[in-house]
Amino acid sequence: MEQLIVGLFLAFFALEFVVEFGLNEVNLRHVRASWAEKKIPDFFERNMSSDEYEKSVEYTLAKGQFQRWAEIYDRLVILMVLFSGLLPFLEQFSKNLADRFFSTIHAQGLIFCFAVALVFFIASLPTDLYSTFKLEARFGFNKTTWKLYLIDKLKGLLLGILIGLPFLFAVLWLMQATGSYWWIWTFFFVAGFELLMVIIYPTLIAPLFNKFEPLPEGELRNRILHLAERVGFKTSGIFSMDGSKRSAHSNAYFTGIGKAKRIVLFDTLIAQMTIDQALAVLAHEMGHYKKKHIRRMLVVQTVFLFLGLYVLSLLVDYKPLFVAFGLEAPSNAAALVLFSLLSGPATFFLVPLINLLSRKHEYEADRFAVETLRNRQPMEEALVNLTVKNLSNLTPHPWYSAYHYSHPTPTERISSIRAIPV
Ligand SMILES: [Zn+2]
Repeated sequence: MEQLIVGLFLAFFALEFVVEFGLNEVNLRHVRASWAEKKIPDFFERNMSSDEYEKSVEYTLAKGQFQRWAEIYDRLVILMVLFSGLLPFLEQFSKNLADRFFSTIHAQGLIFCFAVALVFFIASLPTDLYSTFKLEARFGFNKTTWKLYLIDKLKGLLLGILIGLPFLFAVLWLMQATGSYWWIWTFFFVAGFELLMVIIYPTLIAPLFNKFEPLPEGELRNRILHLAERVGFKTSGIFSMDGSKRSAHSNAYFTGIGKAKRIVLFDTLIAQMTIDQALAVLAHEMGHYKKKHIRRMLVVQTVFLFLGLYVLSLLVDYKPLFVAFGLEAPSNAAALVLFSLLSGPATFFLVPLINLLSRKHEYEADRFAVETLRNRQPMEEALVNLTVKNLSNLTPHPWYSAYHYSHPTPTERISSIRAIPV
């Protein structure tokens, strides 16, 4: 049985690797082939010099070539954790540590989960460092200093301890204390926790990493106030964020629910756009609010949580699963660790489905912006501006974008905008 489990895992694991590695290769070839024709895609000819197009191709290729190695490296890390004897070693280590220093309930489980998470955190540093300080820096995007990078990582680690450990303790406690329907109790707890995070993230967590300020007085602010009033969005929830302290990339997002909802414009975006374009971006973000996209995504996430916990409840006592990965006997903490390691390969085919839903939301938000402004021009210009300034890939392979993209490609968005009657 153990061999069958390992075989099945390796089959899914290999399939996921082949799909993701293969898509990256297909995409790289597609970009090179389009570049060989030296033709800037429609919609961009008038707004982009051939130098800018060339730079965007170089950036895309550099990222794709890096992705090739990162993909292999990440897979090797997972295999190493699962099959090198590290898991049983960490389990034993956490037992010894808990026995000697912590007499509290679930201490061993907490140490074990934390140790595994720490291994992945450390393993992620080389690719993260290379991507930030080599790749992004080479194209002029990186603005992060070593000091800021270090502080960010320490803050992340600290948050993981302050929020993650109590959360994990509660889950381990529920698993043990609430009988055979523990997974239903855990479901309500985790769903409530996720909701709480959506509410506190914009006001309590994001400000630990960035400064959020109300938009400065001026024409942009006045026109935004006017638009917000028309749409019914509280303007106290519109902020500018100092994204420029880490990266020259520009962006905007809508987050939170209820009173905690916020629209955030990066300072880099405000600096590079005309007022009409920035207003279009803002109208797009209000579209996400009006069409209740955050709520819909939360519902989807909650359904997955329910199904995931149900599956976990079937596996939590299933000894061959634990033996297959070198552990002697089932334990709740080990079940959580194994489940989080195995769920990726077991569910990777859901990634394009989630992205499909997300892209649908983006089309809806674009349409909302165009209809609200009664003008297609500014939304289209804003998209062109964002695409050019961020050196986005103008010619992704359709399979690649269908699988990976949470937003439709710029070309797809602009053609759909042009089809909206105003
Ligand atoms: Zn959007």
